[in-house]
Order: sequence, then structure tokens, then C-alpha cells
Amino acid sequence: MNIVVCLKQVPDTETRIRIKDDAGKGIVRENVKFIISPFDEFALEEALRLKEKLGGQVIALSLGPDRAKDALRTALAVGADKAVHVNDGGLAGTDSLGVARTLAAAIRKLDHDVVLFGKKGVGLDRGQVPAQVAQILGLPFAGQATEITVSDDGKSATVDREIEGGRERFEVPLPAVISREKSANELRHAALKGIMAAKSKPIQAFTLADLGLDAAALQPKVLVSKMEYPTERTAGRVLQGDAATAARELVRLLHEEAKVI
Ligand SMILES: Cc1cc2nc3c(=O)[nH]c(=O)nc-3n(C[C@H](O)[C@H](O)[C@H](O)COP(=O)(O)OP(=O)(O)OC[C@H]3O[C@@H](n4cnc5c(N)ncnc54)[C@H](O)[C@@H]3O)c2cc1C
Repeated sequence: MNIVVCLKQVPDTETRIRIKDDAGKGIVRENVKFIISPFDEFALEEALRLKEKLGGQVIALSLGPDRAKDALRTALAVGADKAVHVNDGGLAGTDSLGVARTLAAAIRKLDHDVVLFGKKGVGLDRGQVPAQVAQILGLPFAGQATEITVSDDGKSATVDREIEGGRERFEVPLPAVISREKSANELRHAALKGIMAAKSKPIQAFTLADLGLDAAALQPKVLVSKMEYPTERTAGRVLQGDAATAARELVRLLHEEAKVI
């Protein structure tokens, strides 16, 4: 079973994001710590568990600038067998479709029975790339999986996902593209031995030319026109007096100030 797992680097969720002053069309990236998107960590864990059960190899794939290699080294340190980095200046500023077209071209070059993604890249939260990759590759897509079971013959997979008030189960023939929801699966952490070994493992590099793609064709069609901070929350108010007085005051405020009743 060959499993390709796509890892996106995103700003650490603890980071205080600053919008660029100039046009408000992006964020300040200097001095930001980048991590593997949390949903992708669950996809990586799933890939490693599938390999442990079924054999084969896990290939970690990331598209991004030089720093994306850190995500790939982390994947190698916890047990991925190979790492592939797509890095090309022509990709700067591309949109989700450009990312999907590039990842799909890289995946075509890799042996794949299952292609795993996180359900969304934390931060932008668009959740578009996995389905777009599936469509470009002409593969079945199952999104937001909470459980993935591959059949004994390796020809199909059962994918469970949570839905409002229940659970839905899909059967998909392999190869397939599956995106991963978070789960109760404990994530493994790299041991020192794994970290040291990962430093010397090669990372295969692809440019757009290697993938037969042209930067001009990957220019964004969806243009970010503005980013804004969320509206500042006003301070809360504590109502004084006994319960009856506070309740009367609350009703008055909801009626006269908030105008919701
Ligand atoms: C400088 C800059 C400029 C940009 N300009 C634009 C713009 O003009 N218009 C626009 O629409 N967007 C723009 N973007 C957004 C950018 O293209 C997004 O990274 C892209 O939309 C995919 O990220 P996402 O979080 O939306 O992916 P999602 O669809 O939420 O990602 C889902 C999953 O896909 C996989 N994945 C996503 N990206 C990668 C990756 N790079 N490598 C490996 N796996 C990946 C991961 O498994 C992830 O969990 C810009 C980004 C940058 C950095």
C-alpha cells in the first residue's frame, strides 16, 4: 500500500497574526513560527497506521518555500519513508486551484494507492485542495474521514465520517483521495533517533518544469482583495442586585440597547 500524505505548513495556531499594512491582501510572515497544519498531522498519523497494518510506504508531499522542508523532516522523523518537496518561485501567490494542480502533477509521479489530506489547512480554512486534486486526477474523493479501513485485497476502502446526529460510511475503490478529520488517535512524536536519521534522508525536489507545469498558467483566478481583523469584542457587563433586579435590567438592556426583544 503506497500512501501519499500532503502536508501544508501553516502559522502556529498560537501566533498573533498581523495583516500586511500595504494592501491588506496577506499576512506578515517574518518571525512567524510555521507548523504542520493540525489536520495534516492526523492524516500523517493515519498514513503511518495504514502502513503498519498493510505494509508499503508513506510518502510525505509538501508544496512551499524552503521552510516546508521542516515539515517533511518531521514526517521522516516519525516514520515516513520518503519526502517530496515542490518548490518554485513561480508558485508564489497562486490560489487553491494552482496548489491542487501542482500537487496533482507531483502525485502522478508517485506510486499511490491512497492520497491523504487534512480536511483543511488551518488558518485559511478553505478546504478546497483535496477535492480539486481528486477531480484533476479523476479519482474518487471521500472527505472528512474519521476512520479509514482498507479491504484485505487492498482494492477498496471503507471511510466513515461524522454527520449531524450520526455517521456516514462510504466505500471507495482505490486509488482514492481521502481527507482526514481530527480523531482520538494519539499522534506520535519523533524520538531523538528518528530526528537524527531524518536529517540525512534525502528529500526529492520538484520544480514546476519537472512537473511539466508553467507558472503563467497557475496565476490566481481567485484574488484576495482584502483581509480584516475580527471586530473587537466590547467588554462584558456585570448586572448588579438580586436575581429579580438583574433579570429586569437584563430585559431592559436587551430591549432598549441591543434591540433584540
Ligand atoms: C503569498 C501568498 C499569496 C496568495 N495569494 C492567493 C490569491 O491571490 N488567491 C487565493 O485564492 N489564494 C491565495 N493564497 C492562498 C494559497 O494559495 C493557499 O495556500 C491555497 O489556497 C491552499 O491552502 P488552503 O489552506 O486553502 O488549503 P485547503 O484546501 O484548506 O487544504 C486542505 C488540505 O490540502 C493540503 N494542502 C493544501 N496546501 C498544501 C500545500 N501547499 N502543500 C501540501 N499540501 C497542501 C493539506 O493536506 C491541507 O490540509 C496565497 C498564499 C500565499 C502564501
